[in-house]
Amino acid sequence: MADKTKLFKSKLQKSKISFKENEPLAKHTSFEVGGPASIFIEPENKTDLIKSLELVDEFDIRYFVLGGGSNIIVSDKGYNGAIIAMSKLNKISFQDNKVIAETGVSLKDLCDEIADNSLTGMEFACGIPGSLGGAIFMNAGAYGGEMKQVIKKTKLFSNNKGVIEYTRDKLKLDYRYSILQENNLVALEAVLELSPAPKSRIRNKMEELYEKRWAKQPMDYPSAGSAFKRPPDNYAGLLIEKAGLKGRKTGGAMVSKKHAGFIINANNAKATDIIELMITVQDEVKNKFNVQLYPEPRFLGQFDKLPALDN
Ligand SMILES: Cc1cc2nc3c(=O)[nH]c(=O)nc-3n(C[C@H](O)[C@H](O)[C@H](O)COP(=O)(O)OP(=O)(O)OC[C@H]3O[C@@H](n4cnc5c(N)ncnc54)[C@H](O)[C@@H]3O)c2cc1C
Repeated sequence: MADKTKLFKSKLQKSKISFKENEPLAKHTSFEVGGPASIFIEPENKTDLIKSLELVDEFDIRYFVLGGGSNIIVSDKGYNGAIIAMSKLNKISFQDNKVIAETGVSLKDLCDEIADNSLTGMEFACGIPGSLGGAIFMNAGAYGGEMKQVIKKTKLFSNNKGVIEYTRDKLKLDYRYSILQENNLVALEAVLELSPAPKSRIRNKMEELYEKRWAKQPMDYPSAGSAFKRPPDNYAGLLIEKAGLKGRKTGGAMVSKKHAGFIINANNAKATDIIELMITVQDEVKNKFNVQLYPEPRFLGQFDKLPALDN
């Protein structure tokens, strides 16, 4: 293990791909929890990204592709492997009503550029934290919109097949789901198809949704957004509120008093506090309403215990 890691790092150096060691992941996640990653790579461009992905494969190094870190809970022990962070792959270009964007771009920057180019269809996403890649992976959505409605096609990287292209149908986008969750495909670039509209109308809509979000959600605390997926024909937040769990704390983690669907890092929470609280919420909702809640964020690293998972 030590040998292959050493060889991997020396290959990265030879390829002039810089990396950090023992990088604290709390700095890179919206929950602001998580220990260090043994290797943290932030490729400068697509060529370096693909080279990094080829090298993790060649040396059999465990790896994780990091977007904006807004939908993950990282273990306090950190991650024993390579993080490949997408943040520098953020080029955007326009062709008529189409937007071609690298997947490391933040949804906020992407939505701003789209509005400046007088295109409508992405307003729903302007307040969702994170990157375009994470939004495709999760089929992120809000206020009646979801990525499925705007994605035309995506360029992906697979270690077996190299760069391939998937149209919307092949991505199998569904509620907080895409085919990327089933395999090791990495989204490199996406084409979004939008419609022309007056800039002022787009900006007004973005502003309206942004205000709605700030009025209802605890945007001023670190979190990973909704802690649980929506159960069939129900709402996680409503069930949690009805179970009397608003304001329930474990260590530094708390069920938000503003929106029961959010667990927040209220006071220097550890990942273990968040997990314990998620388990409590699952148990109490199950006992009171016989509904099983499943986490929406994904877990990274080693945990002694986890909430019940559906994936
Ligand atoms: C305050 C707050 C509000 C939120 N509101 C919403 C909301 O309204 N709607 C909603 O849907 N979500 C919401 N979220 C959750 C989160 O923002 C979304 O799920 C977002 O799309 C995750 O993107 P990310 O880049 O941060 O992904 P990350 O957290 O970095 O990663 C999530 C998963 O995507 C994978 N991934 C990331 N980039 C790529 C890539 N290029 N190729 C392949 N896999 C990749 C990662 O490996 C990981 O498994 C909210 C979160 C917060 C903190």
